[in-house]
Amino acid sequence: MKDITIVGGGIIGLCSAYYLNREGYKINIIERGDLSNGCSFGNMGYISPSHFVPLASPGIISQGLKWMLSPTSPFYIKPRLNLDLMQWGYHFWKSSTTAMVQKNSPHLNDILQMSRGLMNDLTADLGNTFEMEGKGCLMMCKQQKTLDHEFHLADEAEKFGLNVERLTRDAVQKLEPDIELDVAGAVLFKEDAHLNPGKLMSALKTYLEKSGVQFQLNTTVTGFEKINNSITSVITDKGTFHCSELILAAGSWLPIVAKMMDIRLLLQPGKGYSYTYKHVENNVKYPAILVDGRCAITPWGQQLRIGGTMEISGINNKILVKRMQGVYDSAKRFYPGLKIEFPPADKIWSGLRPVTPDGLPYIDRAEKYNNVLIAGGHAMLGISEATGTGRLVTDIIQHKTSDIDVSAFRLNRF
Ligand SMILES: Cc1cc2nc3c(=O)[nH]c(=O)nc-3n(C[C@H](O)[C@H](O)[C@H](O)COP(=O)(O)OP(=O)(O)OC[C@H]3O[C@@H](n4cnc5c(N)ncnc54)[C@H](O)[C@@H]3O)c2cc1C
Repeated sequence: MKDITIVGGGIIGLCSAYYLNREGYKINIIERGDLSNGCSFGNMGYISPSHFVPLASPGIISQGLKWMLSPTSPFYIKPRLNLDLMQWGYHFWKSSTTAMVQKNSPHLNDILQMSRGLMNDLTADLGNTFEMEGKGCLMMCKQQKTLDHEFHLADEAEKFGLNVERLTRDAVQKLEPDIELDVAGAVLFKEDAHLNPGKLMSALKTYLEKSGVQFQLNTTVTGFEKINNSITSVITDKGTFHCSELILAAGSWLPIVAKMMDIRLLLQPGKGYSYTYKHVENNVKYPAILVDGRCAITPWGQQLRIGGTMEISGINNKILVKRMQGVYDSAKRFYPGLKIEFPPADKIWSGLRPVTPDGLPYIDRAEKYNNVLIAGGHAMLGISEATGTGRLVTDIIQHKTSDIDVSAFRLNRF
């Protein structure tokens, strides 16, 4: 059986390792960090079949331009004279039409629903140490006009076979009896689930180590050796590792790592923030996306995570506290009864979502090489799509036909 090297130990790298390991492959994961932090840890932990509409969708550009003028807004693109950003922006704009959304949504829906099913199997296999709960997710709306739009989306969701419930203000309040709400209503997406992503990452790492997967942690990939159209070795700051089959799963760093082997990828890091309260009195019971507040909250027992924002400002971990203020203010406006204080600035977490122009991931073999596969670009859905991605990666490695059409995830679509 071939040995496989995976660059990147985020959720996509670990889930790919999980499915490949089950098929008997020998896996070596090379990860720059120590697997204790990163985008796959501090996110909101939603498994969201509800998110079948890509980020690039009608209205996002004009709304985004308005938002860019406010320091507390949820969306920001730092204007820069950068060719990659301009090309990414051009394709993002081209993907935001109704026709493109109609073309892309079914593919997003396919991988989301496939992953949702596989997530149940993975939870059964690993044991639920990561607080996975399948009670659904509320799309909470402050204004009636937002709720009307969300009800329309619920109609579309039903066409994809999703189970939804349209809730009046009183009906939502009944679901959250311990806390005062100030909303027009909500839609409950019943197939959605939530989990603690940091604990999921830790459970996966433990499981993979026990299954014989090798980890090279605190090891940064700096280049590759090749013979003809095969990558033969991965060069790192800790030495060179032979490889027969290579998977790049480097998240927002994919374009940098891919460039080391002359592959160009359109992808931008989209920074988001979160903060986790350890103990909240009368905590919320349901995870919720505060739709017109453009942020989200996730409870795990007494703990509560609030998070959001999408800043396209390159690779950096600078925290703009005012944006987190926008998230906190929204949470307080939707839940006036929520007893939480604004977090200390030095405790705010940030992570970089790997964002493709059209909201679909890249899961494909690289044309230039006969032993390189790229898996990434899952933007705000990496946790939701990770199991499906791991399964699809394994199918591609094994030259098997997958359960869903993977052509929409090809690398050369832009
Ligand atoms: C605020 C926020 C909330 C979110 N909420 C959700 C949610 O509720 N549900 C959901 O589905 N998704 C959510 N996401 C998105 C999700 O977190 C990401 O899509 C996912 O974590 C991306 O996983 P990844 O494995 O592709 O990338 P990463 O987790 O970034 O992993 C890539 C890894 O590659 C490593 N790497 C990079 N370069 C090198 C190199 N040269 N050498 C070695 N290693 C390297 C990095 O260190 C990193 O660990 C959210 C994101 C944010 C920011």
